[in-house]
Amino acid sequence: VVAPARALYVKALFDNDPTREGGQPARSMTFRYGDVLHITNMADDDWWTARRVEENGNEGPEGVIPSKRRVEKRERARRKQVNFNQGSQSLGRAGLEGRRGSRSQLSFSRKFPFVKSTERLNDLTDQELNSSDEPILSYQVIEQQQLNYIRPVIILGGLKDRINDELVNRYPDRFSSCVPHTSRPARPNEIDGRDYHFVSKQQMEEDVRNNLFIEAGQFQGNLYGTSIQSVRQVANSGRHCILDVSGNAIRRLQSIANIQPVAIFVKPQSPYQLRDWDHQMGDEEAQQQYQRCQRIENTFGDVFTHVISNAGSLEEVLARVHGTIANESRPTTWVVNTARP
Ligand code: 5GP
Repeated sequence: VVAPARALYVKALFDNDPTREGGQPARSMTFRYGDVLHITNMADDDWWTARRVEENGNEGPEGVIPSKRRVEKRERARRKQVNFNQGSQSLGRAGLEGRRGSRSQLSFSRKFPFVKSTERLNDLTDQELNSSDEPILSYQVIEQQQLNYIRPVIILGGLKDRINDELVNRYPDRFSSCVPHTSRPARPNEIDGRDYHFVSKQQMEEDVRNNLFIEAGQFQGNLYGTSIQSVRQVANSGRHCILDVSGNAIRRLQSIANIQPVAIFVKPQSPYQLRDWDHQMGDEEAQQQYQRCQRIENTFGDVFTHVISNAGSLEEVLARVHGTIANESRPTTWVVNTARP
């Protein structure tokens, strides 16, 4: 194969920094996570050629990029080195197993494998983040798609809750959270359809089984979850639905609802940066949150549409999130081609 049979576009799932390469004839192109590349030649095992597709659709000059095989080879070598340097312990996974799981939760999770049974339901469980074989991220085949709905927005990583609150509070006519379902009875001041959609447990179990939910969880014996219908309702009202969900829910949105969310990972450079963004945060919490961000990046690195890194202040993060969403709201967008993974 010299050139792809039809135009091949990929999204880069890593930052390419040519200053880290040594010894090959030509320097490769600089690109960042999320950049769109038009692959023009794949004849060589190690080096392909490509043009970067700019946001306005124009293509830049042809340059050299490392092939998928080369990216994988390089990453495998790096991981070996990391493991070697750390003894046989892999990064940050000690002591995460066997913390939870009553019998009823276990049988529930067998019935609904994607449903989490944690106390903080909207959070990732440790198990979810604990896959031992992290895939190596290189390129993902994408294609242009016309989107005729307002895309939901999912923020992951540092400052997630703060960003969600700020978007809804600052721009209430453009962003809104959606109404979750629950099987618990309504409290006196609660209104059906405003606070929750109140349904029976039996009904909710059936709907979860029928793939009407993008995520669900169990808390004190009651079920909670976000339905596809609730997400659609917000989009129909002309707003971006702000979803506080994990990477798994992003996959489910795409696969069972055919909805393409804007999924932004806010990457903190260090625990210190987290404290800089949030002065209320203590040392230990910053450390934990930072490690959590690293695990999210390792586990869900293939589902983000954008990564915001090297941001200075909180205001800069907010401005970049806002700019990214505005930019992703055009009628034609690049989406993952699930038929050509
Ligand atoms: P409450 O019954 O007090 O309204 O909520 C109890 C718990 O349910 C809260 O900790 C909240 O995080 C969780 N919860 C609320 N809505 C949802 C949802 O849509 N999905 C999931 N997984 N958990 C939810």
